[in-house]
Amino acid sequence: MHYMAAHGTRRARPAELVPGTVSVITARMDYLPRDTPGEWQQVEFSRLDRPSEAVVSLYARGRDYHKVLRSRLARLAVRIEEEVGPIGHRVFTDSAPVLEAELAARSGQGWRGKHTLVLDRQGGSMFFLGEIYVDMALPPTAPVTPHCGSCSACIDICPTRAILAPGRLDARRCISYLTIEHPGSIPPEFRRLIGNRIYGCDDCQLACPWNKFAVRSTLPDFDVRAPLSARPLAELFAWTEQDFLRHTEGSPIRRIGHERWLRNLAVALGNALRAGDLAARDALLARREHPSALVREHVEWALAVDSGDAGSAPDHRGEL
Ligand code: SF4
Ligand code: SF4
Repeated sequence: MHYMAAHGTRRARPAELVPGTVSVITARMDYLPRDTPGEWQQVEFSRLDRPSEAVVSLYARGRDYHKVLRSRLARLAVRIEEEVGPIGHRVFTDSAPVLEAELAARSGQGWRGKHTLVLDRQGGSMFFLGEIYVDMALPPTAPVTPHCGSCSACIDICPTRAILAPGRLDARRCISYLTIEHPGSIPPEFRRLIGNRIYGCDDCQLACPWNKFAVRSTLPDFDVRAPLSARPLAELFAWTEQDFLRHTEGSPIRRIGHERWLRNLAVALGNALRAGDLAARDALLARREHPSALVREHVEWALAVDSGDAGSAPDHRGEL
């Protein structure tokens, strides 16, 4: 697979990022856990209807994919060198300076869906992307034709209306961004819509008809880890920082740190309280004096509801 950018910024010009790059080998790696049941999309949607249960995005329930994919790409580069001799190369996965989805789409890994992710007719979209920049000319592979057609399921289901138009995502509205990358206070207008999602959001992918063809991983790395499997929000909220570090060792979740973890859980507990889970109040009260102003602010928001609001939490489509 080959990509030689003629236009765009430095991000879009591999040779400026890694001097000498002539081609980019793109790769994808399926991540659905090995024991994922049939009708898994319905199983995932049903989690959103249990407000006291924490929901972690599917890709983050096992081992940190950065480590898994990077080491496999490094091994692939070694195997290529065994065939062709030494090459200059550098491996990337989920790296900010790389336009990953665009490289994947241009090299035929799939097309960009209306939700902006890459998807494929044989494999849906539940896969990670990675790249090897090489200083060796390779014959290019062609892009594939898009197959979204008139479907708009991902746009329609997005709880925060983050997909503004086909292929246009406002990251500032996206629950994945808000619960993972966003460092500060979560804008209040999105808190109720977050529901019980404490790390990421899969809704646009769950709704995608092509994901009935999503492929299970063959690797144990992505098996669901017990501490993150359908746990009560209150239990996770009670974790000390040491508990958090221990339970998330080797998991991508560790990257957000304990403070953001508690922030997300406070929002979810507030939504559980609104849905009638009165035990959520005790869990929140126990963190009311937390040293972090960020955590305290979200706890106060969560507690600022009386049980008279019960039952008025939005459903997983963001509808009241
Ligand atoms: S991840 Fe969730 S919030 Fe973000 S675009 Fe998809 S459905 Fe919307
Ligand atoms: S849900 Fe429909 S519009 Fe969205 S990516 Fe999948 S096929 Fe395309």
